[in-house]
Amino acid sequence: MVAPQATKTPALGEKAIQELKASFRGELIRPGDDGYDAARKVYNGMIDKHPALIARTVDIADTIAAVNFARENKLPLAIRGGGHNVAGFGTCDDGLVIDLSRMKGIRVDPVKRTVRAEGGCTWGDVDHATHAFGLAAPGGLISTTGIAGLTLGGGIGHLTRKYGLSCDNLISADVVTADGRLITASADQNADLFWGLRGGGGNFGVVTSFEFRLHPVSTVFAGPILYPLEKSKDALRFYRDYMAKAPEDMNAFFAFLIVPPGPPFPEHLHNKTVCGVVCCYTGSLDKAEQVVRPLREFGPPVFEHVGPIPFPMLQSAFDALVPPGLQNYWKADFVKDLTDEVIEAHVKYGPDVPTIHTALHIYPVSGAAHRVGRDDTAFSYREAGFTHVIAALYPDPADTPKNREWVRRYWEALHPYSAGGAYVNFLMDEKDEGPDRIEASYRDNYGRLAALKKKYDPTNLFRVNQNIKPAGK
Ligand SMILES: Cc1cc2nc3c(=O)[nH]c(=O)nc-3n(C[C@H](O)[C@H](O)[C@H](O)COP(=O)(O)OP(=O)(O)OC[C@H]3O[C@@H](n4cnc5c(N)ncnc54)[C@H](O)[C@@H]3O)c2cc1C
Repeated sequence: MVAPQATKTPALGEKAIQELKASFRGELIRPGDDGYDAARKVYNGMIDKHPALIARTVDIADTIAAVNFARENKLPLAIRGGGHNVAGFGTCDDGLVIDLSRMKGIRVDPVKRTVRAEGGCTWGDVDHATHAFGLAAPGGLISTTGIAGLTLGGGIGHLTRKYGLSCDNLISADVVTADGRLITASADQNADLFWGLRGGGGNFGVVTSFEFRLHPVSTVFAGPILYPLEKSKDALRFYRDYMAKAPEDMNAFFAFLIVPPGPPFPEHLHNKTVCGVVCCYTGSLDKAEQVVRPLREFGPPVFEHVGPIPFPMLQSAFDALVPPGLQNYWKADFVKDLTDEVIEAHVKYGPDVPTIHTALHIYPVSGAAHRVGRDDTAFSYREAGFTHVIAALYPDPADTPKNREWVRRYWEALHPYSAGGAYVNFLMDEKDEGPDRIEASYRDNYGRLAALKKKYDPTNLFRVNQNIKPAGK
């Protein structure tokens, strides 16, 4: 039995909890309950928060009851989809966490090529369901990440260049708003909200289900190609030029990393720092060798493991390298291009990756993602060519100073070349990022988002997120 934690929330009386319990079909978990400590954890091991109540909803009725409960009892309210947000927005101190992890219903319509997935699904859940029909929705690169937070912030992954961001493939969403109503947002219904959900994060309500457009993606030609560190400047220039000409069927992200000590990597590379790409070609397999050839010929590579694999296998191939519970400290920006100055900064700091699991990633934001206008969705940086994330992940909190120092120095060297803002899903909290980062990341869209927030959440009930303040507040 876990020792009860003191709660500083006077409003959370026993009577109110019992009233909620009477109509609630999911689980209510409180300090002192078995499982409380496991339930309050999120992906980032640095986050150590103690909610007053965790409401594991199983349906829309539970979700409505929980939103009403938070509002009526004036509780801080966090929404947890996959729990992966590195700023720790899937939990809070002394408030209510609406945890959707039991809401995993999925229905694929193979004829219309759509999927409807509940807000507690991960990308692994959705990939599993859609792959049975030879279809996929554009998601992220790690199967354990929640579809909810990732889509609501934008959603960048292996299919971005060919099919756009995750949010570009959203057809509709069911949302419980701050006043406890369920509404649907789509191009035809509550279109203003639909615009805001595509990049505006969890600011407008609890999304209980997402409907996505699917694409014919089944076996892809994919995997890592690693180059020696001495070649990193040339490799980055080569990568920039290659991506500029590559067909949209080809997505490749660049990385500095320490080679994990295990298969499929050869022993002589274990624990060595290298650079490289992870590519994913979704076009016809007859052309795959030809498209990948330049990446294989450059260098030459010290290792490559590229071939045909089922898409869900690629999506979960790197899960073990980023397990939950590690300390996570990340910084990010968009850049318009990988100019020589940007490359110089990468070459100066990238090779000093301080700990295994830690890495620099550069993701392309191009192709189909560029064909959506910068004010067509809340996600604004449509003309950015790339987003980088300098992501320190390490088990021992004692390693925080050296990881934080590396991340910050690296980011400071790159920031002068930033397009201005960052991908909101890679940001830490305001204490770390400073007060202007959210606005900088939405640019001209911020005013429209603030007006939308005023309309749908005037009291800022949903504020445990990259928060957009209601207009006029
Ligand atoms: C290992 C790892 C890999 C990643 N890879 C990628 C990647 O490939 N591509 C990419 O684009 N991003 C990636 N990310 C970043 C990811 O998009 C964000 O961390 C995102 O916030 C995760 O969503 P979640 O549902 O798992 O998180 P949570 O922590 O549960 O929630 C994140 C935010 O979304 C809100 N939210 C969650 N569920 C709902 C809901 N149902 N309704 C309304 N609001 C909700 C919460 O309020 C919170 O503010 C990765 C993160 C990690 C840790």
